Amino acid sequence: MGIAIIGAGFAGLCMAIKLKGAGYHDFVILEKAADLGGTWRDNTYPGCACDVPSPMYSFSFELNPGWSRMFSPQEEIRAYLRGCAEKYGVTPHLRFGVEVTGLEYDDERHVWRVSTNTGEPITANAVVSGIGALHIPSFPDIPGKFGGPAFHSARWDHSVDLAGKRVAVIGTGASAIQFVPRVAEVAAELRLFQRTPPWIQPKPDVVLSERAKRILRLPGAARTARNAIYWLLETRALGFTVDPRLMKAHRRMAERHLARQVADPALRAKLTPDYTIGCKRILLSDDYYPALTRDNVELVTDPVTEIRDHSVVDATGREHEVDVIVYGTGFKVADALSEQRIVGRNGRKIQEAWQDGAEAYLGITASGFPNLFFLLGPNTGLGHNSVVFMIESQVRYVVDCLRLLSRTGARALDVRPEVQRAYNERLRRRLDRLVWSDGGCTSWYLDERGRNSTIWPGFTFEYWTRTRRMRPSAYELLG
Ligand SMILES: Cc1cc2nc3c(=O)[nH]c(=O)nc-3n(C[C@H](O)[C@H](O)[C@H](O)COP(=O)(O)OP(=O)(O)OC[C@H]3O[C@@H](n4cnc5c(N)ncnc54)[C@H](O)[C@@H]3O)c2cc1C
Repeated sequence: MGIAIIGAGFAGLCMAIKLKGAGYHDFVILEKAADLGGTWRDNTYPGCACDVPSPMYSFSFELNPGWSRMFSPQEEIRAYLRGCAEKYGVTPHLRFGVEVTGLEYDDERHVWRVSTNTGEPITANAVVSGIGALHIPSFPDIPGKFGGPAFHSARWDHSVDLAGKRVAVIGTGASAIQFVPRVAEVAAELRLFQRTPPWIQPKPDVVLSERAKRILRLPGAARTARNAIYWLLETRALGFTVDPRLMKAHRRMAERHLARQVADPALRAKLTPDYTIGCKRILLSDDYYPALTRDNVELVTDPVTEIRDHSVVDATGREHEVDVIVYGTGFKVADALSEQRIVGRNGRKIQEAWQDGAEAYLGITASGFPNLFFLLGPNTGLGHNSVVFMIESQVRYVVDCLRLLSRTGARALDVRPEVQRAYNERLRRRLDRLVWSDGGCTSWYLDERGRNSTIWPGFTFEYWTRTRRMRPSAYELLG
């Protein structure tokens, strides 16, 4: 077998499409779930939508002038991905229900032995990991057991009717701010438990009318719209990456938004973050704050200390009687990659290689793990633009690496350790002085050591430039 792609989300599908385009047809996409879509298959909570405008949160080679809104809902993004898989002929390469449980490099044959839950032995010349960064639901460590229905927002239990129920929502992150307004509309009572308030800015969401869609179908129009959105979003990186003081305007916008939407000063105080804006992801919403001003909604800022059979207890000892608990507590992000069972050259485990934190060259290749490519790997996540842009840059780079192998007849390539080290030292120096490290917050961007192995600390066009052509001298060729 040629190439094994793990995961059928935006990343894995993009890889598959571009492999086919480059003439590589010997590949499989191993997907543990029963369908494609990744994030957009798993997150079915009410109100789920992207928070980067759809013309940018989509593939550059498959612009969709038919988006229904500026920020399209989950089901539409999922259908878009399905359409892409069919149109580009990658559907026959999909293998559902196959979970990759380990990867082991064979030093002699220069192949990867891929173990899966099905027990079927798979060997691949190259492996592309598109397992996603926001994939494994994270639950808070709260003692006690709940007697009623309780679920995570990424595993929404649609069999539970929330109408007329007393609902506890734990967490106020990117997902919660989307589903809280919907739940508040139907629940009898909603207790929202907040640890840290997010900074929230207005969401410029609009329905894209039939007229707008007709205009977007004119030659060049969808591309122009995408480019305009790209550069607008890219200006946000100035504050993130050049100088956090430039974030003042963002802060003022968020403060005005809060002041406009919440009249009660006590509630406003609870909703005002005490850390630098941008330190955690800036969220967009027009209906979250209004939902919190409803009579049936109470914002609780005292930490949750215990879960009982039919209640949630906060640090003041107050017991909140509820029928359902929804966890909007995000994902296990920073450690997801290093938890993989991956054994590279000379039997070296990825955990040993990454004992000081996950790192890779350009976030794509890790020294000692030849022909293993990460999509959205270490330090390639974004706080200001669409990750699909990063995925496409990485996919082009992987194809370039494969072409080098074809050209030279080598069996594998392994990034030189000194190249990886120098790259990551520069990255760390940049990250240390930026908002994620000294903005006064803890966030999913940081791992347990407080090290940022998730975010790309620059403009995305810089990343695009750096990955545009692979540098053969950065690699040792094997076999
Ligand atoms: C609710 C939500 C909204 C978001 N909105 C935005 C947005 O607006 N803009 C933005 O840029 N980003 C957004 N993101 C981030 C989003 O995750 C990425 O944009 C993108 O979907 C990631 O694609 P992916 O293919 O890398 O990962 P995923 O979509 O997570 O796909 C990974 C796939 O790999 C499979 N998989 C994992 N492990 C294995 C294994 N061991 N074996 C086999 N298969 C495996 C999974 O089942 C999954 O299908 C959002 C995330 C969430 C959760």
